[in-house]
Amino acid sequence: MYQEKHRFKKTLSAFAVIFVELALMAATTAVFVLVFERVDTMRTEAAAAAAKNSSSATVAQESLNEGASSAGSENEPMQEFKQPDDWKLVLVNLDHELPATYKQSIVHQFNVDIDSRITDSYQKMHDAALKDNSKIWISSGYRSYEKQQQLFAEEIQTFYKNGVSREEAVSKASRSVARPGCSEHITGLAVDLNGVLENFDQTKESDWLQKHAQDYGFVLRYPKDKQNITKIKYEPWHYRYVGVENAQKMKAMNLCLEEYIDYLNKNQAASH
Ligand SMILES: [Zn+2]
Repeated sequence: MYQEKHRFKKTLSAFAVIFVELALMAATTAVFVLVFERVDTMRTEAAAAAAKNSSSATVAQESLNEGASSAGSENEPMQEFKQPDDWKLVLVNLDHELPATYKQSIVHQFNVDIDSRITDSYQKMHDAALKDNSKIWISSGYRSYEKQQQLFAEEIQTFYKNGVSREEAVSKASRSVARPGCSEHITGLAVDLNGVLENFDQTKESDWLQKHAQDYGFVLRYPKDKQNITKIKYEPWHYRYVGVENAQKMKAMNLCLEEYIDYLNKNQAASH
């Protein structure tokens, strides 16, 4: 009887040991799960922080590319666009009309209307190109709102006649001719050079401009590799005055105007 009791006690204590061991194992597992979860969260946070940092990195080209197209993504709150204070950098595109307060200073020179503040720079560029046997000329400079309205209407008609729907004609037309108010030609700072030739980039004049335009303050406004950002098809003939300093930086960093303004805004925000 005593032995029976003793054995029972022994079994009981053995069960107790197993129970305690199991409890300990469960507790340890729980701790591990918690730690792993925390590490995982930390890893995710670190990845998110790294992504954030890389998008604000100064000259990281791919993040800039991504930044422009994901300006309104969930990670980054959409910032209200602010036109640069510098008149040379005024942004006019499909999303931004010329600000009502912007004042052009239009003169008639080189057989076109153009902003008087850029005529000297253009003249210097023209003369330097000519010295290198490249003759450039302006086929279109400043265009008023009314003129652009007319061009846009004509372009819509062209597509419309070819049997597409009205909406499609408008959408297609806005890829090749900017909507009134959204054309950069309204600034007086844009020039179409040597006619509007699709193959202008195969001429020596275009080669010369690609090498030297930035030294006179001009940039190729709608490059081939930036079409997803400018939302305008590649235009090898369309140059825009932005001033020498900006043009040289844009060229060196391979940034189009939209990206460059974004870059300046981010840098300004970082320095405040
Ligand atoms: Zn143009």
